[in-house]
Amino acid sequence: MAERIAEEKINQIRQSVDIVEIISEYVQLKKQGRNYFGLCPFHGENSPSFSVSTDKQIYHCFGCGAGGNVFSFLMELEGISFLEAAVKLAEKANIDLQVNFSASGKGKSVSPEIQSMLDAHELLCKFYHHLLVNTKDGQHALEYLLNRGFTRESIDKFQIGYSLNSWDFVYKFLSKRDFSPEIMEKAGLIIKRERDGTYFDRFRDRIMFPIFDRNGNSIAFSGRSLGADEPKYLNSPETAIFNKSKILYNFHLAKPSIRKLQQGVLFEGFADVIAADKSGVENGIATMGTSLTEEHITLIRQNTQSITICFDSDKAGIEAAYRAGNMLIDAGCTIKVAMMSDGLDPDEYIKKNGPEKFRNEVIGASLTWMSFKFLYFRRGKNLQIEGDRLAYIETILKEISKLTKAVEKDHYLRQLASEFSISLDALQQQLKQIFFTEKRKSNGQTQPVNKPAIVVKPANKLKPAHYNAERRLIAHMLRDRDMAYKVQDLLQGNTFNIDEHQAIITYLIGFYEEHVKPDSSAFLTYIQDENLRRIVVDIEMMSINEEISSQELTDYIKQVLNYQKLLKIKEKEVEQKEAERQSDFSKAAAIANEIIQLRKSL
Ligand SMILES: [Zn+2]
Repeated sequence: MAERIAEEKINQIRQSVDIVEIISEYVQLKKQGRNYFGLCPFHGENSPSFSVSTDKQIYHCFGCGAGGNVFSFLMELEGISFLEAAVKLAEKANIDLQVNFSASGKGKSVSPEIQSMLDAHELLCKFYHHLLVNTKDGQHALEYLLNRGFTRESIDKFQIGYSLNSWDFVYKFLSKRDFSPEIMEKAGLIIKRERDGTYFDRFRDRIMFPIFDRNGNSIAFSGRSLGADEPKYLNSPETAIFNKSKILYNFHLAKPSIRKLQQGVLFEGFADVIAADKSGVENGIATMGTSLTEEHITLIRQNTQSITICFDSDKAGIEAAYRAGNMLIDAGCTIKVAMMSDGLDPDEYIKKNGPEKFRNEVIGASLTWMSFKFLYFRRGKNLQIEGDRLAYIETILKEISKLTKAVEKDHYLRQLASEFSISLDALQQQLKQIFFTEKRKSNGQTQPVNKPAIVVKPANKLKPAHYNAERRLIAHMLRDRDMAYKVQDLLQGNTFNIDEHQAIITYLIGFYEEHVKPDSSAFLTYIQDENLRRIVVDIEMMSINEEISSQELTDYIKQVLNYQKLLKIKEKEVEQKEAERQSDFSKAAAIANEIIQLRKSL
């Protein structure tokens, strides 16, 4: 793996790709004036504050402050290194980097053992698929799938395959290709017999569903039996490459759609994901037979804030949806719950009612989290009985009291009032009581807060004059090389007052030593610090006049320098008071004189 890529290559990549094109793969962008706008992929939002500039080849979010060039976009979004982003972009631009990357093509160096496990899975995944769709041996399995409503399209998309009814086919197949049996056993593909130390295949005569990691490497299988063989689904064991608590089925395929729609659909099992995909719901993911973990949630949260939970509508499914929903809410997600009638699961529902109804009447008509709780807490209660009814109302009021938006509170209170013919006043009274009781209970304890995973910076407050002057100066320096040197001269060895601003102009002067022309996107690559990059993008997006008058320039410089003098004056005033306190009046007078001189120079 090469350590670095030559700078000309980086420049070539930057010039060959269009940031709007790349970002459009993840975000729906609309042109508005000179820029493009869309929903920010880095924080959940309902109105677009994310903008992309074609001229400057940079992006910026007014909501969360994310910003950068095409490299940093991929780095932040995919959680990859600069090198990996460069490789991805070079591929898109058909630029040969003339460096050798590891066989997985993902740019990450892995141990030979892991690489061997990945290679074996890739090979088998292709081979199983080939057996299913092209051979006589797999024909009965293919028919079985087609009879169950699978389409050829989804069989190809999900790389579904078939494992032969043989005890040692995979063992021989892999051994012939020099895969070590010990490693293949560790990869969960073959099993060692206790008695004689020979090996046999884990999966025999099963429909094979490969499981992929977030980069699209196949890392495990789930094999479904064709007949009455138990278990119905046989999964790969946990291995060095397959960790259930981290893997979400279909994540690598669903991710672009999740990003674009800013919405993911969480299913209970991978069969639901495939059935839903066939119905046009392409943003579906599922855990692999485990409950949701913190790692899953982090992965989801990096890509969207909105999740629709679509679990089986039976008792177990509803309980699981309630648990998953609460975990996601705690992580700052917005939750909807899609329900199906008669305790069906998504696959059964689609078979019975068709894909369109599933899209519109299940996914499209999902309940808000609160409406789901109305149903959830009703189960097992007989609301004709007064005791049950009162307990139910109390529970719902407690839930309503946790809502933060007044409009929502009001909406659900009215719903409750009308359903049980209670006056709104009475409910509001009781809600207040609950609120105070809960508050008293939690006093002194740490508050359970819904922390958003990404902190949204507060809107810019009114900033002091020197702050704005420095930003304006930087904005002009970014656009004009001569101006950068001119400002340096005018500062006469003084620095900017804001440390970050000073750091940026230090970088900028360095950049201009090597580059004759300003280039926003190239400069962003030049800056190492992410925080500084964000500030640069923020400044780049400011609207300023193309030309700066010499009066304007003098004013800005003056504001920068004055602030330093004002600080000096404050310092002197303290010294003066101290001198007076010590009755050193001649010293105090001398300081007073200095203050007068400083004030004059303002
Ligand atoms: Zn944002």
